Amino acid sequence: MFDKVLIANRGEIALRIQRACKELGIKTVAVHSTADANAMHVRLADESVCIGPPPASGSYLNIPALIAACEITGADAVHPGYGFLSENARFVEILESHTNDDHKITFIGPTSEHIRLMGDKIQAKETAKKLGIPVVPGSEGAVTNDTDALKVAREIGFPVLVKAAAGGGGRGMKVAKTEADLPIALATARSEAKSAFGDDALYMEKYLTKPRHIEIQVLGDGQGNAIHLGERDCSLQRRHQKIWEEAPSAALNASQRAEIGAVVAKAIGDMGYRGVGTVEFLYEDGEFYFIEMNTRLQVEHPVTEMITGIDLVIEQLHVAAGDPLRIRQEDVRFQGHAVECRINAENPETFMPSPGRITYFHPPGGLGVRVDSAVYAGYSIPPFYDSLIGKLIVHGNNRNECLLRLRRALSEFVIDGIETTIPLFKQLVDEPAIQDAIYDIHWLENHLGKE
Ligand code: ADP
Repeated sequence: MFDKVLIANRGEIALRIQRACKELGIKTVAVHSTADANAMHVRLADESVCIGPPPASGSYLNIPALIAACEITGADAVHPGYGFLSENARFVEILESHTNDDHKITFIGPTSEHIRLMGDKIQAKETAKKLGIPVVPGSEGAVTNDTDALKVAREIGFPVLVKAAAGGGGRGMKVAKTEADLPIALATARSEAKSAFGDDALYMEKYLTKPRHIEIQVLGDGQGNAIHLGERDCSLQRRHQKIWEEAPSAALNASQRAEIGAVVAKAIGDMGYRGVGTVEFLYEDGEFYFIEMNTRLQVEHPVTEMITGIDLVIEQLHVAAGDPLRIRQEDVRFQGHAVECRINAENPETFMPSPGRITYFHPPGGLGVRVDSAVYAGYSIPPFYDSLIGKLIVHGNNRNECLLRLRRALSEFVIDGIETTIPLFKQLVDEPAIQDAIYDIHWLENHLGKE
């Protein structure tokens, strides 16, 4: 096992990773920008290094500064968290080829090859198909011109979705409802993809009109062994961004879960994948359609931890250190129900960011309540980063108990000085469509639009 892990991230996830390291007796190194000198992840780490100015490009994405920080502190592994460098194949390649034998730095995650393969969504889809995973009908590879695009669209049928091969965070994605919309959808997706990712390759998919977003959590050891840890239902989204996630999905029964889980775990094992990962699907009329694979720990991983009792970061550390999988599929038990609400520093109606000073902070507690956050009273949220400031995760013996507990926990949660999304969740927990679990990926936006 590692002696000292550098965590190349900030906020709640940096703290989350520190917790796992500490439980394994591993020393922790925090890195921070000058804007984060007072952050909790810095205070609680064993050591910390300032790696640059506030903009992430100069600090949390600054590869030379991060490698220097590993050298200075003697860290023998790097955990990237999510976002920032977590799916940056170049960073991983540099670590892999770091030839100084006296100081090897292990990346806690998959190989650069697997990150690169899955980072290109066209290649990812082709790979998934080859491995026997069902995919959304769409173009074979990239669409390079409007004429070909129209041909493909007519074959798969409108509405179609134009997507960026390099996509992420819902960017570079445009719907064309009719033939007339297609040229505009292609042009806007192309320019959005170019500016967001520096890569304007596009592909097309059938636009599913009422799917759920259901993703399967996987864990592989890079030695051909892999298991799945069930699904998460992340259908409640705004602008293709998840805000509420739950496990299990009310749409699946145990045999459907076991069936799709087995297909995915086999594919991951066959790939020789090492680390945690998430295989994302849309689910409509009883069918699964692969959309992408994330080769990292996800924001919403705690709901899986709550129903399985498995600490995903601890398992991540073990497989990164070269240990074979410690858990067999038949030992994975799903118990009860969990929901996560993303607490963002945002206006709950307009979703405009609301950085600033937190004057009072009181998190909820009690049985089955987990708060993953790195903020505190007196902390000033810097305006430079993502607006996620915490996650409320609640577990109950069944979905109904979980929602009752969630309502109770939300009523205890006090964050003063800034605006947060807590009031939105207080409303959602009482919505009949949510109580009955009959929502799809469009439900939230339609619901917000109605008010
Ligand atoms: P990103 O990498 O940008 O997050 P994804 O491919 O994971 O993109 O898709 C994000 C979200 O966009 C999905 O959860 C879903 O809401 C929507 N989406 C993606 N593909 C389709 C599709 N073929 N039909 C309908 N909605 C889709």
